[in-house]
Amino acid sequence: MTDSARVVIVGGGLEGLATAWSLAERGETDVLVLERNTLCSGMTAKSSGIVRCHYGVRSLAAMAWHGVQVFSSADEIFGTDIGFRQTGYIVGVGANNVAPLDANTEMHRELDVPVEAIDADEVTRLWPGIALDDFAAFAYEPLGGHGDAYMTGMAYASKARRLGVRIRQSTEVASLLQRENGEVYGVLLADGSEIHADTVVLATGAWSPTLGATAGIDIPVRVQRESILLVDQGMRTPDVPTFSDLVNLQYIRREPNGDLLVGNSDHSQPEWADPDAYSNRADDDVVATAIGKLDRLLPHMPDPRLSSSYAGCYDVTPDYNPVIGPSPVPGLFLLVGFSGHGYKISPAVGRLAADLLLDGISSDPAVDGDDFRFSRFDEGKPLVSLHPYVGAGEMR
Ligand SMILES: Cc1cc2nc3c(=O)[nH]c(=O)nc-3n(C[C@H](O)[C@H](O)[C@H](O)COP(=O)(O)OP(=O)(O)OC[C@H]3O[C@@H](n4cnc5c(N)ncnc54)[C@H](O)[C@@H]3O)c2cc1C
Repeated sequence: MTDSARVVIVGGGLEGLATAWSLAERGETDVLVLERNTLCSGMTAKSSGIVRCHYGVRSLAAMAWHGVQVFSSADEIFGTDIGFRQTGYIVGVGANNVAPLDANTEMHRELDVPVEAIDADEVTRLWPGIALDDFAAFAYEPLGGHGDAYMTGMAYASKARRLGVRIRQSTEVASLLQRENGEVYGVLLADGSEIHADTVVLATGAWSPTLGATAGIDIPVRVQRESILLVDQGMRTPDVPTFSDLVNLQYIRREPNGDLLVGNSDHSQPEWADPDAYSNRADDDVVATAIGKLDRLLPHMPDPRLSSSYAGCYDVTPDYNPVIGPSPVPGLFLLVGFSGHGYKISPAVGRLAADLLLDGISSDPAVDGDDFRFSRFDEGKPLVSLHPYVGAGEMR
């Protein structure tokens, strides 16, 4: 017998599960999530989980602010801890980027995001021993920090299930099913069975182009490998804010065990990868560069050494922003291309996707659903920061 659901979501990562949860909250519970492995085993499992509202795109800043509010109420909403720690978030820029920093933080204030300009003395008070010679200005979000992407995705799944959503794991979609007029009406599974749907939502991250191609759609997503380092300073890092260094293009945050998690923000020379075949360990040259930058910021680390490293893949679009909305093919909705920043906005992504699927319009006046349309690339109108940073354009 052929199974069916009004909405079939392919991909059980953060974005697919947030959408399943949001649809169910809105009363649409005839939803079936299909995940080829286990939930949150894709790139969600690799996420650094950093939460900040510091964006140069207004809709994204508003979406991140919604994320902060959901994450900080996780106990009430999901009945479980999602690992969200409001450590505070600092972004530091050099002299050439003070004007965009001011303009961006002004825009954040208009959205009611709590954010302050702080000076180097205040940064040093928050993070003793940090070296700030490279920086000219800082913005501080006291409610920012980081969460656990796996725990968050599983919380979405659990809430969605309690509301009636069905989830099937170990269920690989081989291709999209299309009528002669091109309309997508379901999916063909790898075991040869079919599942029919009014709408299929593609939330398959780095694997999206392959499935899109089965319906003749060229999804503009490329796969960019990124490495994460875990560094033992030779002492337990005290409770410090999450820090974005927009001079040396690196971000750092404290791990629960006192190590530092160190990630790269320099996307000038992306390393394109195959999401099914990439080295899950940072290369030596990447380690050397990252440790050099870290040493500049924290010159007094007593006895630093690399605890471990791993790598993940960003599903990047040409403007490093996601596609959230209908595809050119009727019956197929896209939720792809989160380009390395899909954790913090995931509650708002679910809400926006549910709005667009059910009403065709965003329910949040601060979030323009049109911003994320598929056609923007062909129109030559990429979604870019209103106040871009010199040398850090991808800090949207
Ligand atoms: C190293 C790294 C660090 C990051 N750090 C941050 C951060 O600090 N802050 C932030 O906001 N964001 C961050 N992100 C981004 C964020 O984690 C991602 O945007 C988000 O997890 C993507 O979720 P997703 O659901 O789109 O994709 P995924 O989690 O990859 O989920 C897609 C799912 O689809 C499944 N799938 C694929 N093909 C099929 C098929 N044919 N049939 C069935 N299922 C299929 C996969 O198995 C997978 O589970 C980071 C990402 C990485 C890689």
